[in-house]
Amino acid sequence: MPLIQSKLDPVTAIHDEVLEPGLGWTHELARGQTLRIVDLEGNQAVDTLFYDLADPANRYSAVDTIRSQGNLYLTAGSVLVSSEGDALLTIVADTCGRHDTVGGACSAESNQMRYALDKRYMHNCRDSFLLALARYGRGMGKRDLTHNINFFMNVPVTPDGGLTFADGISAPGRYVELRAERDVLVLISNCPQLNNPCNAYDPTPVRLLVWDTLPAAS
Ligand SMILES: [Zn+2]
Repeated sequence: MPLIQSKLDPVTAIHDEVLEPGLGWTHELARGQTLRIVDLEGNQAVDTLFYDLADPANRYSAVDTIRSQGNLYLTAGSVLVSSEGDALLTIVADTCGRHDTVGGACSAESNQMRYALDKRYMHNCRDSFLLALARYGRGMGKRDLTHNINFFMNVPVTPDGGLTFADGISAPGRYVELRAERDVLVLISNCPQLNNPCNAYDPTPVRLLVWDTLPAAS
């Protein structure tokens, strides 16, 4: 798990905001722009989907990304591949070291199946995605929610192919940074989950920064 630091200075960011847990977020990134997601308090799950802005049906594909890089986990150097085989973004810096893309997003259904019947009505990522897409207003909805990335989430796959939701490996201030390889739509649910040990049952805010261009090489 190579850890790669960024040279970008938050002072020069064109966008800088804190997203509280339980909230969704959409943002359009132009080709060449860089997005940094900062895990402010550690082990927060940031459920994220990416779409080709010109054609949202061409969207992030976990299957194609895993196959093309020959690795189940995402980290610096990972190219996020779309369902049509296009490079959407590249992870250019990562101080956490591993991000999940097979665990999926929490939903009313998974709350019920994983935890208990009475957890069905608790806040979940799928509902946050749908609300954010409705507010975004391009007619996107349920059919646009496919496999996602869980930044900062540790979901090791066991030798016999099982999934384990393990203790997090992130820590306060760790971040991941992605460069857009084409114009993309970013859809985030900062996970509100209160039943999963991944985030120590404590959803926390993240910081989202965007830079316009890469700095000159120093
Ligand atoms: Zn969630």
